[in-house]
Parts: sequence; structure tokens; C-alpha cells
Amino acid sequence: MKKVLQDLNEEELLALVEGMGEKKFRARQLFEGLMQGKRISALPIPAPMREALLKDYEDEPVTIRETFVSQDGTKKFLFELADGNLIEGVLMHYHYGNTQCVSTQVGCRMGCKFCASTLGGLVRNLTAGEILSQILIVNRTEGGTLKERKVTNVVLMGSGEPFDNYGEVVKFLRLLTAEGGIHVSARNVSLSTCGLVPKMREFAEEGIPLNLTVSLHASTDTERARTMPVANKYTISEILEACSYYFERTGRRYIFEYSLIAGENADEAHAYALAELLKGRPCHVNLIRLNEVKERTLKGTREEEAQRFLEILTECGISATLRRSMGSDIGGACGQLRASYLKKE
Ligand code: SAH
Repeated sequence: MKKVLQDLNEEELLALVEGMGEKKFRARQLFEGLMQGKRISALPIPAPMREALLKDYEDEPVTIRETFVSQDGTKKFLFELADGNLIEGVLMHYHYGNTQCVSTQVGCRMGCKFCASTLGGLVRNLTAGEILSQILIVNRTEGGTLKERKVTNVVLMGSGEPFDNYGEVVKFLRLLTAEGGIHVSARNVSLSTCGLVPKMREFAEEGIPLNLTVSLHASTDTERARTMPVANKYTISEILEACSYYFERTGRRYIFEYSLIAGENADEAHAYALAELLKGRPCHVNLIRLNEVKERTLKGTREEEAQRFLEILTECGISATLRRSMGSDIGGACGQLRASYLKKE
């Protein structure tokens, strides 16, 4: 596989351009063109330079293979990577803009019992440029530019565990938020983790004040371990301490994801236990009824049960919302994204 030019920031592009004996301003030109979602062969640079780049770098590291449109307007994209791996991503329309959900790995090795992304295990990590390219190509295809973006918000909630690919994910976040690039503000970015505690603490030091989201799904370690193997490694109390540390360092409140699973974590006693656990913390809870994954037996709760859960949290003074599921008719909702592998000659 060739290298990914979108992995490079402006400074690294400058070094590359100078190493090729080209003029400095070409670096800016490259960066701007790439951030507009252009492939190398469409960049306005001299032909010899373009050919030299194409020897080492992929012309277009991520392409859209197929687009599925949901009844609610959500779009699911099937992206093809240069090595033939396929990943999925989603674009959701809200009143405030469009949110793109990106993948950080092909597959996932966290093994959560309710999630489709982990079914085939981890295939490989994505590079920073491959994560970024998912956004660049969707923004371009949807008719967006760098000034008038069609992708206004980004969530790292596709397939993969972002903190299991820490270095590339942090690099991606710096490219995404860089001035002169696509320049999405960190405040409009959410990163979701299943709770890799040491990485959560390390991330608090990076100076990237995004919305840190943790997949909790239970309020005791024993219950959590029934659906999330990672609970055997890090306790809820360690997770809460890491969240407090994040708040201390960034001033950002944190968010918990809680997927309501019938007969598992969704009755009234669970709601009171969750409220007790989170009482007084600067946090928000996103509830969602579990989406169906055909290979999995776990089922979501009924709407009434979910409403009651929300009511209890609210009565107990916990800030919470029940999210409506988007794109489930096209397999694009939370937990439904998966990886595929295509044999390529
Ligand atoms: N690996 C990261 C990023 C995934 S984000 C993490 O675990 O946080 C996707 C979110 O959807 C996570 O909160 C995940 O737990 C949740 N999820 C997974 N499968 C789901 C399903 N079938 N229905 C609803 N939510 C699900």
C-alpha cells in the first residue's frame, strides 16, 4: 500500500515539498487542495510534481463505494480504502447542521456484546489521513467547501475504539481542527470511548477541548462486564476519576452513553442506581434504546420503559436526554456499523 498524503500537516507538507526541490508555496497549495477533498491527480500543481507524488502516495485513499439514504434523511456511506477494506460512516441532519460519524479502525477488538463493529475483531487501524479523508470526501460530495462546510460537526462513533488507535486519532484531531484546513472547532467534535482509562487521562493533556463521551451502559462493574469485556480491565470508579480529571484539565463537562437493553440494564432500579452514581457530577447522559444487530440476541427496550428511565434520571437531578435513533432502516444507527473485506488484485 502506498502512503497517505492526507496524513501530513502543513509543516510536514512543507518539508516534503522542499525535499522535492519545489517552491515553498506549493505546500499551502497542496494542503488547501487536499482539504477541499481533491485527489492528487486533480491538484493544480505542475505535472512532474504530481507524478512524483503519485509514485509514493495514494491518489485517493478513501472513496465512496455506495450511499444509502434513510427515510429520516440520514445517509450511510460505504467507504473503500486503498487496500480493499470497507468501512462505514453516517451523515445526520440536525437543525444546527450536519453531523458526520467517522470510523477510526477497520473492525474493533473491544468485543461489546451488542455491537456489530466488533463481530470480525480488529482488522487494522486507520491512519489519521484515512479518518480525515472520510470527512473531506463527504463534504465535497455534499457540495461543501472549506468556507461553507456541509459537515459542521464530527463524532468519532463509527466502527473502532478511538483510544485503541490513540496516536493516529490525536493526529487526525489536530488536522481536523487546524486553521487553514477544514477547521472544525473542537467544541463541535465528540469522541466516544468504551473507557480506556490511561488513554482518557493522557488525552486530558493534549489541549483538545472536545466533548468526551464514555460508553457506560451499566452502573456496577459486574453488570457492565456482562456486555462489555473492557469492564474486566477498568472499573467504573476509575472511569469516573478519569472523567473528573478531564473536567479539571479542560473545563468541559463529559457525557455518558447508556444504551437501554431489555431485561438487562433498563428497569427502574437501574435508573435509580445510575442517578446515585452520577449525582453531583458535571455530566450529561445520552440514553438510546439499543438498536437491533442481526447477529446479536440482545434487544432494545420499549419506548415507554425508556421514557420512564429518562423521567427518573431527570427527577433525580441528572441532566439526560433520550436520543431518537437515526438511520436504523439502512443499518446506519449506533452499533450497526460494520467492516467488510473485499479481495483486491
Ligand atoms: N468504541 C467507542 C466508539 C463507538 S461509539 C465506544 O465504545 O464508545 C458507538 C456507541 O454506540 C457506543 O456508545 C456504543 O456502546 C453504542 N452501541 C453499540 N452497539 C449499539 C447498539 N446495538 N444499539 C445502540 N447503541 C449501541
